[in-house]
Amino acid sequence: MAIREIRMEGDPILAKKCRKIEEVTPRIRELAQDMLDTMYEAGGVGLAGPQVGVLRRIAVIDVGEGPYVFINPVIVEKSGEQVGDEGCLSVPGKAGTVRRPEYVKTEAFDLDMKPVTVEGHGLFARAMCHEFDHLDGHLYIEKVEGGLHNVTYDNEEEEED
Ligand code: ZN
Repeated sequence: MAIREIRMEGDPILAKKCRKIEEVTPRIRELAQDMLDTMYEAGGVGLAGPQVGVLRRIAVIDVGEGPYVFINPVIVEKSGEQVGDEGCLSVPGKAGTVRRPEYVKTEAFDLDMKPVTVEGHGLFARAMCHEFDHLDGHLYIEKVEGGLHNVTYDNEEEEED
C-alpha cells in the first residue's frame, strides 16, 4: 500500500490528455492499488491517473458499491439529467453545481484486460463522468454553474507543505 501525492489545480499535468493503456503490467496493477489507497485516504469517491501524475487512461471509483478500476473507459450511453454539487480531490475545500447525466453506461477494461460494461445511476454516474473527464484534461470547475463555494470536511487536516 502506498499513498501517492495528489496533484492540485494549476498543475499542468491535470490539463493534459492521457494515453491508452495497452497492457496491464505489474506497474499498472500497483498504480491501481495505490490510486484506491490514495482515494480512500483522502476521503474521495474517485481518482484519475493525472491526479497522481500518471498520464494514462485509468480511473478508480468507489461510491459505496465497492471499488471499481476502469482502464481505457469510454462512455457509450447516457440519459437523464442530475444537477448537484461536485468536488474534486485536486480542488480541495471547494464544491460547485454541475449538470450531469443521471445514467451512464461505460465500456472499459479490468485489471485482467477483460472488457467490462459498467452501468451507474446518480452519484456513480456523476463520478464516472467526472473521473473520465480528467483523462482528457478537464476539471469539473470548467462546468460549474454559479461559481465555486467553500466546503469543510470532518477530517480537516492541513497538509500544505
Ligand atoms: Zn476530480
